[in-house]
Amino acid sequence: MAGTGVFAEILDGEVYKYYSDGEWKKSSSGKTVAIINPTTRKTQYKVQACTQEEVNKVMESAKMAQKSWAKTPLWKRAELLHKAAAILKEHKAPIAECLVKEIAKPAKDAITEVVRSGDLVSYTAEEGVRILGEGKFLVSDSFPGNERTKYCLTSKIPLGVVLAIPPFNYPVNLAVSKIAPALIAGNSLVLKPPTQGAVSALHMVHCFHLAGFPKGLISCITGKGSEIGDFLTLHPGVNCISFTGGDTGIAISKKAGMIPLQMELGGKDACIVLEDADLDLVAANIIKGGFSYSGQRCTAVKVVLVMESVADELVEKVKAKVAKLTVGPPEIDCDITPVVSESSANFIEGLVMDAREKGATFCQEYKREGNLIWPLLLDNVRPDMRIAWEEPFGPVLPVIRINSIEEGIHHCNASNFGLQGCVFTKDINKAVLISDAMETGTVQINSAPARGPDHFPFQGLKDSGIGSQGITNSINMMTKIKTTVINLPTPSYTMG
Ligand code: NAP
Repeated sequence: MAGTGVFAEILDGEVYKYYSDGEWKKSSSGKTVAIINPTTRKTQYKVQACTQEEVNKVMESAKMAQKSWAKTPLWKRAELLHKAAAILKEHKAPIAECLVKEIAKPAKDAITEVVRSGDLVSYTAEEGVRILGEGKFLVSDSFPGNERTKYCLTSKIPLGVVLAIPPFNYPVNLAVSKIAPALIAGNSLVLKPPTQGAVSALHMVHCFHLAGFPKGLISCITGKGSEIGDFLTLHPGVNCISFTGGDTGIAISKKAGMIPLQMELGGKDACIVLEDADLDLVAANIIKGGFSYSGQRCTAVKVVLVMESVADELVEKVKAKVAKLTVGPPEIDCDITPVVSESSANFIEGLVMDAREKGATFCQEYKREGNLIWPLLLDNVRPDMRIAWEEPFGPVLPVIRINSIEEGIHHCNASNFGLQGCVFTKDINKAVLISDAMETGTVQINSAPARGPDHFPFQGLKDSGIGSQGITNSINMMTKIKTTVINLPTPSYTMG
């Protein structure tokens, strides 16, 4: 159970502690932040509202810890990460329980998130040992005008202190996808978890504590992003920010100083369906892509662009599958569970009402109870409706009927987002041409968009992000290249 057994020390009465300098602590603010259970809409947990002083202290110890961590052998760093991964998986049940209560993630998916996170940490440790164990050796005579008098040795060095800010929808997985690459590369890490998801993240951090990482190397500051966020992101002690979330990321990137940024932001992933597509496959992927975790995924299918000639048939197939989705609490693994907050539900409802006023066809009756919104397919959506462009982050999916492939590509590219997209056709040549024309970081051919497997590169274009994630890319992003040049008095050519 959450907050008991090995996790008892992270709880003080009914308030979870924050993690600083290798210890679980109460904030001197005396203030707490309530975490509302999206299903019951009552306070489920409380976390500390950390102060600026506490952030300063965390940054100080992170800086000190990093200096000796950078001198810790790579195999030892990997060994500790493997240990943390095993502990995380061993304690998947209490962590998954928090995910169910804090973010209404269906119970089975919550377990999957924790197990996947353990696997990600282990894979990162292995990948780090390989790619950080290699550098480059360059010789000067390949550039015109030079003799072979200079040997250049390059290696990857850590950046320093990495600030990690994940979003509510994968508070464990999207935290470890930043923690593990940062640590294997020799950085220290400060985590600011999302408020909804903070307690799951604190349990996860405790697994790193139990693994025995040095004091100060990992810390976890809790508090509302709107209150503590700017102080963290503008802190002079931060050498890199890895952020996943919504438009907040755009504001952070505009304010951040001369530090590397990894930004994974929103998406409006388009699903382009051609006349020759296997419509059963498309319908299954629209259901999985559009409605799993109630549409609260960055890579959810967020607009279907289907050729008019097959639109009726596709809509009927999707409607039949929507009718089979179970709706209710996450504890019993319903397909559709309450969205994360009341404000989120209100936002989704606003998009639905706008579509109604402007004449979209409702394939189901719109129904909402508290934060629970029943799955809804909106047909005949037109570009003047907000839902054609905005990210609902809920179980509501618009269908736009198109008369040409160009029209579909145009709609996809007119979006300010460019995360992923997908195309369904049996003609691989057409699929490749469409994939090349879509201005998104990834295009899936004949499958719904997806972030995993976690070692694949993952990136958004335009307002969807800066840089690229995926295990290898994240390790590289959290390092810099350093070179040492050996200058010889006379040219020297290595002989066989
Ligand atoms: P969000 O509101 O942007 O919050 C993300 C994180 O930022 C949270 O930890 C939040 O903390 C924190 N935060 C809020 N204000 C801040 C500030 N001023 N400075 C620093 N941090 C601040 O996003 P969300 O609602 O959690 O997640 C949904 C969004 O994430 C969607 O747009 C989705 O598409 C996107 N997303 C993208 C990806 C991707 O990889 N591209 C993956 C998943 C989700 P609090 O919770 O305390 O406010």
